[in-house]
Amino acid sequence: MKFSRKFKRKKLLSHKKTFMKEFRRSMKEFKAKVVCSQCGRPPHEGEKIDNWGIKQESENLDLLCLDCYVPAGDTNNEI
Ligand SMILES: [Zn+2]
Repeated sequence: MKFSRKFKRKKLLSHKKTFMKEFRRSMKEFKAKVVCSQCGRPPHEGEKIDNWGIKQESENLDLLCLDCYVPAGDTNNEI
């Protein structure tokens, strides 16, 4: 019993590894394709897309680069 449990765990671990590898790969591909929906520029070298804004009025996930994105707090602080 001990053996099979260990085996199961090992299998699970390798599945997790594969999943993470796939996940990182697709994230990388996604980030490589990302451009600003306003000025159309891709992120600068080393710039983090996580800091980019999301166009609120759009139904798609339109990203705005740091140059185009104006935080909502500048016009109103309702949120
Ligand atoms: Zn932009």
